[in-house]
Amino acid sequence: MYNLSDMATIRELLSKNGFRFSKSLGQNFLINPSVCPRMADAAFETCKGGVIEIGAGIGVLTCELAKRFFKVLSFEIDKTLLPVLSETLSDFGNIEIINEDVLKTDLNELINSKMAGMDVCVCANLPYYITSPVIMCLLESRLPLKSITVMVQKEAADRLCADVGSRNAGAVTAAVNYYATVEKLFPVSKGSFVPSPKVDSSVIRLVIRDKPPVCVDDETKFFRLVRAAFGQRRKTAANSISAGLSIPKNEVEKALSAAGFDLNIRAESFTLEDFSALYNNLNF
Ligand code: SAM
Repeated sequence: MYNLSDMATIRELLSKNGFRFSKSLGQNFLINPSVCPRMADAAFETCKGGVIEIGAGIGVLTCELAKRFFKVLSFEIDKTLLPVLSETLSDFGNIEIINEDVLKTDLNELINSKMAGMDVCVCANLPYYITSPVIMCLLESRLPLKSITVMVQKEAADRLCADVGSRNAGAVTAAVNYYATVEKLFPVSKGSFVPSPKVDSSVIRLVIRDKPPVCVDDETKFFRLVRAAFGQRRKTAANSISAGLSIPKNEVEKALSAAGFDLNIRAESFTLEDFSALYNNLNF
């Protein structure tokens, strides 16, 4: 078995296979040996069946997942990593590498065909350029997931883990909290990767809720309102919603008053319950 945290081993494997790091694919591979076991343990606490990894890299986290889970489906978009992975993962019979863009794959279909009857979760050191799209796609597709344990840039973790209704919150905070409970697990320094990125990271875990904390009749429409409210952060929610949804400002103000809010309120002050109250008073 390869020691995938050892720089000499990594260098030899990569040069033998003619691999070059791609910045645009977010290729920062983990070399800190304590991180992958902790991530895999955190995912396994919530689910014991199948796990989906996004971005296998050279397989350092994939191995730890394969030691714990019954079945591992691991996406890797870069076909130049496939010969590396077939070497590093050769000891395991429960891993399937999927050489596709995760954002262009029907994950519901994949889970139904490859992991039917299993509890399923996601565990990944995410390529940073698609952090929010991946998390939102996993949540909005209503996949039958127990949890999502991911490494993200520290700033993204701060935003995702902020309390809805607090200064650091954004549209993604509200969306994530609608579908899941969110916790920050542990920090990871930039020196834990090769090549080393410019910023530190954090591992966070989203445990999917059985049902959302507020009830809305049309989720797509509800999140249009949330996104519009955060669209122009320096403006009041009334101005931002009016511009974002093309509704006259006086109508937005009427809905704010009817729901009991100050007309100068800003989006970051809204809790999910507040957004739901406003949504129910606004015609759009
Ligand atoms: N899991 C490895 C680790 O921890 O060392 C690699 C993580 S690296 C941050 C992200 C990986 O995702 C890269 O190997 C990259 O090629 C892959 N990747 C980037 N975009 C992808 C996409 N759209 N679909 C699937 N894999 C992708």
